[in-house]
Amino acid sequence: GAQYMGASLGISLYPDDSASSVELMRHAHSALRAAKTAARGSYRFYIEEFTEITRSRLELRRRLHGALKRGEFTLVYQPQLDQQRHTVGAEALLRWSVDGKAVPPDEFIPLAEEGGLIVPIGLWVFEAACQQVAQWRAGGWQVPVISVNVSTIQMREPGFAQALLALTARHGVPPASLVLEITESQLLDESLYGIALDLKNAGFGLSIDDFGTGHSSLIKLRGLPVGELKIDKVFVRDSVHDASDRELCATVNALAHTLGLEVVAEGVETQAQFDLLVSMGCQRFQGWLFAPALTPALLAERWLQRAEAG
Ligand code: C2E
Ligand code: CA
Ligand code: CA
Repeated sequence: GAQYMGASLGISLYPDDSASSVELMRHAHSALRAAKTAARGSYRFYIEEFTEITRSRLELRRRLHGALKRGEFTLVYQPQLDQQRHTVGAEALLRWSVDGKAVPPDEFIPLAEEGGLIVPIGLWVFEAACQQVAQWRAGGWQVPVISVNVSTIQMREPGFAQALLALTARHGVPPASLVLEITESQLLDESLYGIALDLKNAGFGLSIDDFGTGHSSLIKLRGLPVGELKIDKVFVRDSVHDASDRELCATVNALAHTLGLEVVAEGVETQAQFDLLVSMGCQRFQGWLFAPALTPALLAERWLQRAEAG
């Protein structure tokens, strides 16, 4: 088939931006980074403030190194509801606070992935979620399935499935009470199918995150041992007004139905979006219409049921 390639350009000029080749390259890299964040396939000329941005990225990356040890991470949980608004799950979302200020995950997760730090951080997330499940249970709460985000960099670590199994065993949590969310674009790499199968065989649920953004073919989907698709929030956002996004939401629901997969719509913010998704047969919902990500105590108080005594 046809292959399509795109390119982003970062440009620095001799001698205006610098007289040294090393520095010119560094400036071009800063400009490239800005080009990539602005839009795919665009270009940027170097301007001095890019150096500032690069510097603050470097500073963040440096701080990220000690963040685990300093206990700067926490998990918050966003409920997933069925059509009757009963809690059927919750997604664990990582929070990092530096000097009391929250750094958005979309900023620090890519940094952690670049440096490989996502491996220990991801394990911390997984263990914290296991601990939380055990703690809620001990507190007498009925705990729904908890979804944890996993980066494919973690999946590629030898012995990943065994490491997760050991953590569930340590905390007395059955693997089936956890779902691992993997983004669609990362799952396109077929070398991961074997690892995905190991995880499924270990008893974990698997979910494809940001579905609709990664161009999975039906054939690929059928080859994957997943039980759930999450419709990306960009499609939910415009589904009420944009015909092609509405079409995509409807198609994902129909496809999932055919393949026997669950669908979670994420980023549901309005009643109109909810009603539309219900009309498409969608069964699970996550978004600010219901609740943002909450501390464990608030999630239990507002969204969990007491387990039956005896
Ligand atoms: P994601 O997995 O797609 O998570 C959903 C994001 O949508 C969360 O952002 C959540 O707060 C936000 N969200 C929830 N409801 C709504 C809504 O109604 N409207 C809108 N506009 N947004 C909503 P958050 O917490 O900032 O996380 C951003 C991304 O960071 C996540 O996207 C995920 O890719 C990554 N991430 C978060 N925690 C982890 C983690 O523990 N490990 C890894 N590898 N990635 C993580
Ligand atoms: Ca997710
Ligand atoms: Ca998502």
